[in-house]
Amino acid sequence: MTEMTILQQKIQAFLPDIVTSFQEPMARHTSFRIGGPAECMVFPKTAEELAKVMEVSALLDIAPVILGAGTNVLAPDAGMTGLVVCLKGCLDRMERLDETSIYVQAGATMTRAAIFAADLGLSGLEFAHGIPGTVGGGVYMNAGAYGGEICQVCDYVDVMDLQGKVRRLTKEEMGFSYRHSVLEEEAGIVVGAAFRLEPKPTEQIRERMRELQAKRSASQPLDKPSAGSAFKRPAGGYAAALIDQAGLKGFRVGDAAVSEKHAGFAVNLGQATAEDVKELLRQVSDKVFADSGIRLEPEVRIW
Ligand SMILES: Cc1cc2nc3c(=O)[nH]c(=O)nc-3n(C[C@H](O)[C@H](O)[C@H](O)COP(=O)(O)OP(=O)(O)OC[C@H]3O[C@@H](n4cnc5c(N)ncnc54)[C@H](O)[C@@H]3O)c2cc1C
Repeated sequence: MTEMTILQQKIQAFLPDIVTSFQEPMARHTSFRIGGPAECMVFPKTAEELAKVMEVSALLDIAPVILGAGTNVLAPDAGMTGLVVCLKGCLDRMERLDETSIYVQAGATMTRAAIFAADLGLSGLEFAHGIPGTVGGGVYMNAGAYGGEICQVCDYVDVMDLQGKVRRLTKEEMGFSYRHSVLEEEAGIVVGAAFRLEPKPTEQIRERMRELQAKRSASQPLDKPSAGSAFKRPAGGYAAALIDQAGLKGFRVGDAAVSEKHAGFAVNLGQATAEDVKELLRQVSDKVFADSGIRLEPEVRIW
């Protein structure tokens, strides 16, 4: 057993009741299956535990990194010093608020939230079924698919600040735009969100979800580790079409490759490193720019 770092000793002393793991491989928590060890990773189960983590972080003067399901991040090969707060599967309560709205905590997956709404006969989250991230991650970056977006159904969001205090932000205050919310500029953690939905027969909602899942399975390389669309949609085009036109399907750097099935996806063919993926994204962006004059920007968050 290697000696504990000073931060690990302090986390153990200050947060004895919260599930914690030291030198936890990030690759276990990212859909790319990439990333070295996190010095400290904590798994708060309730909003109270999360607040305690934030209070201790403020006391120790560290800014924790928030991880949902890790389906939109590229974690570094060398790992991460400091504190990672993992919410997936921890903070994941869901409840009905009234006739047409539900509240979902940040760590529940979007697929679970969509199924919960469908079972209640509430429509609006069908698009989110099949997006593999958490509700917290989805709200943070205004996830969307097949014409639906979080901002279309979000009513309000409870956001915790770095001192552990929770503020309720309206949809307008969240400053949503394409794959973006105000939380990218102002530090804050999504604790949960309320969604305003519309009544519809459950079977019709389920049918739509099956249809979208079939589209996903037919067009996306779901059998290979990835982080979904590697690039944001540029003005006046689609990243996948531009990459395909530039002849880059199958293009590789090490074990990182442009998917043969969907040119918008970067996939890990087995032993890809974060450096391979970064270099792949850089080269693809340059080649597409040379081919089309359009500059692609990564959608995946590079840590
Ligand atoms: C196969 C596949 C298909 C995908 N399809 C889609 C799609 O159709 N549409 C789409 O939009 N995306 C898609 N994605 C990408 C991804 O699922 C979404 O971006 C999702 O919203 C990320 O959520 P997450 O919990 O995994 O976030 P993470 O990847 O864990 O984190 C992403 C960012 O959000 C921040 N974050 C996470 N949780 C919180 C929180 N509670 N509070 C504050 N910040 C937080 C993190 O710090 C990080 O900056 C796909 C990914 C894969 C692998």
